[in-house]
Amino acid sequence: MAVGVLALQGSFNEHIAALRRLGVKGVEIRKPEQLQSVTSLIIPGGESTTMAKLAEYHNLFPALREFVKMGKPVWGTCAGLIFLANKATGQKTGGQELVGGLDCLVHRNFFGSQIQSFEAELQVPAIAAKEGGPPTFRGVFIRAPAILEVGPEVEVLADFPVQSNKVADPNYALESQEEDNTGTARKVIVAVKQGNLLATAFHPELTADTRWHSYFLKMVCEVGEGTSSSMCAPGEELSFYQTPKIDLPIYQ
Ligand code: GLN
Repeated sequence: MAVGVLALQGSFNEHIAALRRLGVKGVEIRKPEQLQSVTSLIIPGGESTTMAKLAEYHNLFPALREFVKMGKPVWGTCAGLIFLANKATGQKTGGQELVGGLDCLVHRNFFGSQIQSFEAELQVPAIAAKEGGPPTFRGVFIRAPAILEVGPEVEVLADFPVQSNKVADPNYALESQEEDNTGTARKVIVAVKQGNLLATAFHPELTADTRWHSYFLKMVCEVGEGTSSSMCAPGEELSFYQTPKIDLPIYQ
């Protein structure tokens, strides 16, 4: 089995390395016809405007939309989440083309500019329940988006408390919401699943904790039930079921 990784721009190499750590091959996808050779796809983080321009140049949008519509598993991280969203706000003037499919409203650069990037321990009960390991996950947020609204089909896998003084967008109306005594006004959503689609606002490929990749691979196996792939064969001890390793950023 091989997982496609959209390789126009951004952190596609890091995703391929994370898949490799789980014993799975990642295949770089740059052209529409290459999507036919894979049954699942990761859309990495990067710069969604640039990525959209390159995707348009390579005429990838129709093939990507078809891929999503066919029910094939697709995981978008950060800019990839923006790609998958049905609606985005905070875009450059004129907007940008989206693949869509994920019933949510995403806010680009929700937490501010590059210099306001941060790491935070996220509560990830659904991931810990399925993958084991600690109940939290180190979220690396790089000029990250946040999900502000989701449709009824969307399962929220992680959210994040936002302090009103940390929201970069002055138009974002936190004032109307009650703050508690820690200054926490509300939570934004940072990881979701909707059927064949998975999306995270942060970058799991930049940590050594492979549970999100493992979770996605299980989605791939579930969709491709009956697949001949040895990775999904029942009763086998799969390499990606291993106990997660200690979470250290891969850049340390
Ligand atoms: N803010 C970026 C964008 O809009 C996404 C950042 C990322 O992928 N790390 O594309």
